[in-house]
Amino acid sequence: MPAFTARSTFNGSGGALPPFLFEVNMKTIAAISTPDAAGGIAMIRISGPESLRIADDIFTAVNGTKVTEMRGYTCAYGTVSDGSEILDDVVLTVFRAPHSYTGEDTVEITCHGGIYLTKRILMTVYLHGADPAGAGEFTKRAFLNGKLSLSQAEAVMDVIQADGESELRLANYAKSGRLGTEMEHISGELVDLMSALAYWLDDAEECPPELERGTLTAQLSRIYAHLREMSARYQDGLVLRSGIRTVLLGKPNAGKSSVMNWLCGTNRSIVTEIAGTTRDVVTEQVKIGLYTLILSDTAGLRETENAIEAIGISQAYLELDKADLVLYVVDADAGMSAEDLDVLEKCRGRRTVLIWNKTDLSQTLPPQTDIPVVQIAAIHEKSTEQLEKVLSAFFGGGANVTAAAPITERQNLLICRAAEAVKHASDMAECGAEMDMMYADLERAAKCLREIEGKEVTDDVIDGVFSKFCVGK
Ligand code: GDP
Repeated sequence: MPAFTARSTFNGSGGALPPFLFEVNMKTIAAISTPDAAGGIAMIRISGPESLRIADDIFTAVNGTKVTEMRGYTCAYGTVSDGSEILDDVVLTVFRAPHSYTGEDTVEITCHGGIYLTKRILMTVYLHGADPAGAGEFTKRAFLNGKLSLSQAEAVMDVIQADGESELRLANYAKSGRLGTEMEHISGELVDLMSALAYWLDDAEECPPELERGTLTAQLSRIYAHLREMSARYQDGLVLRSGIRTVLLGKPNAGKSSVMNWLCGTNRSIVTEIAGTTRDVVTEQVKIGLYTLILSDTAGLRETENAIEAIGISQAYLELDKADLVLYVVDADAGMSAEDLDVLEKCRGRRTVLIWNKTDLSQTLPPQTDIPVVQIAAIHEKSTEQLEKVLSAFFGGGANVTAAAPITERQNLLICRAAEAVKHASDMAECGAEMDMMYADLERAAKCLREIEGKEVTDDVIDGVFSKFCVGK
């Protein structure tokens, strides 16, 4: 029987920190942490045991303070010189280990944001003994020094890249360690079950109550459902981060191009009274409230003899296959036809909104349907509020993001693997298989969940995560 791992107390959010798992590189590193562009100010970060000494070599404080004597979280104003001339007047901030981002002694030099100037200061730092930092090396050191778990480190990148409220909120959840806490909780449950199994298999007199078949399968099914739910949240988060692929469908002249133009706020698609004008797929990215839609306006759907229009129509169906969201446009004046119902049937299982258009021409109400309806007159419409409400119900996000979720493919894959292992254990429990066969499944699942937080990971995994970072982070 393999020994089971004791439940760790590290929760990635301020709990007990793990021991040093890796040999931390003791070189002092430096990089420009602000963008490689001219700006008001720029910041050069130096981290490692020599950082205060290097800063002291090149910096002269106005008040005469030596950098090596400065306390953590204090600043000094002064000049940086390359030994022969003053390069700039700067503000220098000192962080003392372990109370810094990396967990090491760190100095941040904030200078004027000229590209050449910043690089000159960085070169001077190198000449005094620092090595160039690799991609994501500051954050990697934070991870290796136990300041962040691996999932929190990954979230730092998402915080930087977030370009909307919901993306930022998801990233901040992950960065705060909520995912880690949830993983810790589930793997703790699995480890408890493993302990009970080990006890039982060690010829205990009585079966522990948690291993009674009904109780065990119920617990495993609950854990499995929880893991699947988390994976589903990843898919939703992905849609929020990368944009909702949205296809506009409907019969010719229903007003699809007008809806496209309403959402884009410009005349993106050609609008005419001639049915069959849009034959190619027209794509545009628009922000609707919290959501980014990648809109595709397609050829109107109808039976046609025209070869070019027919190609456009088959492209429309291809777009439907890829879509996260369908906006199905119907001309309220013409009403819902059998063809509309046929196409809506094809959309089943996909998030679909019925856009009941041209309400300025007709008082006809939309048919009773379980599909959410947005009633508009696209050529006059100004507000997107109705649509935003539907998007919020479909995709959550923004204020609706209330749960931790995996935010990278790596994390999601591990959660899916853990779910499959738990499912296998649950199936075996249900069919009355030997208990020891379940042990390996539970161990595999717990290992996957620990790997999310960077416990028991190989150097390759760590390098893979940080290679996606930029230099300076
Ligand atoms: P598509 O073929 O589905 O892309 O339809 P279009 O957007 O090209 O619109 C077809 C015709 O309907 C054009 O003459 C539009 O001006 C008109 N139209 C579209 N939406 C409205 C609307 O809300 N009210 C009115 N009165 N006309 C509209």
